[in-house]
Amino acid sequence: MDGVTPPGWLTGARRVTVLTGAGISTDSGIPDYRGPDGLWTRDPDAEKLVTLSYYVADPDIRRRAWLMRRDTARDARPNAGHATLVDLERQGRLRALLTQNVDGLHQAAGSSPELVLELHGTVHAVECLACGDRTTMAEALARVAAGEPDPACHVCGGILKSATVSFGQALDPAVLERARVAAVECATFLAVGTSLSVQPVAGLAPLAKRAGARLVIVNASPTPYDDLADEVVREPIAEALPRLVSA
Ligand code: ZN
Repeated sequence: MDGVTPPGWLTGARRVTVLTGAGISTDSGIPDYRGPDGLWTRDPDAEKLVTLSYYVADPDIRRRAWLMRRDTARDARPNAGHATLVDLERQGRLRALLTQNVDGLHQAAGSSPELVLELHGTVHAVECLACGDRTTMAEALARVAAGEPDPACHVCGGILKSATVSFGQALDPAVLERARVAAVECATFLAVGTSLSVQPVAGLAPLAKRAGARLVIVNASPTPYDDLADEVVREPIAEALPRLVSA
């Protein structure tokens, strides 16, 4: 299963459910947190910024988290990998686009918001941990720029955080259930740029396979489900995906 030659698995494949991870966004300049050059690999302390218990307990962690959001929010643009999945949708072959990414680049590329399930949330919204009030990231970052290093909820004074799933936080059960249905109902489950190491999302791949789907994995490094896959492709995503979809 070296997958170097186009296997033709996508030619005519209908009802494709796609799961994307950090690997599809690295070409857009967004760091892969866990990869060899990942943010957390280089600075393990940075993981505290996205761990709920540290975030809630320590105002200094929150101040650093807002600066990180400010610095990573800039100028990310979708790349050829995102565009290829828009093509897949336009060809009528996309059942659902599940993503572990919080960058919103699938929607920015033109994927229909109703087909995109953001399993780990989005950095483009901010949520109050106390009352659940939701505002935009742009609004919160404007407050940071105006001199509030750790802006509080306007409604209740509670702690604000990006509307992403931090370590120690559960996934939205409704979103996860829709993802499970999309995995069970697809003919092909295509995992792209994900190490399939974070549960419960990684479990969607074997779930789809058990339900009868072909499992295709496009990732630079091995995943725990490579042996289960019908095809494994190791090429760079921005090269492999366009070729596979147009094959
Ligand atoms: Zn609040």
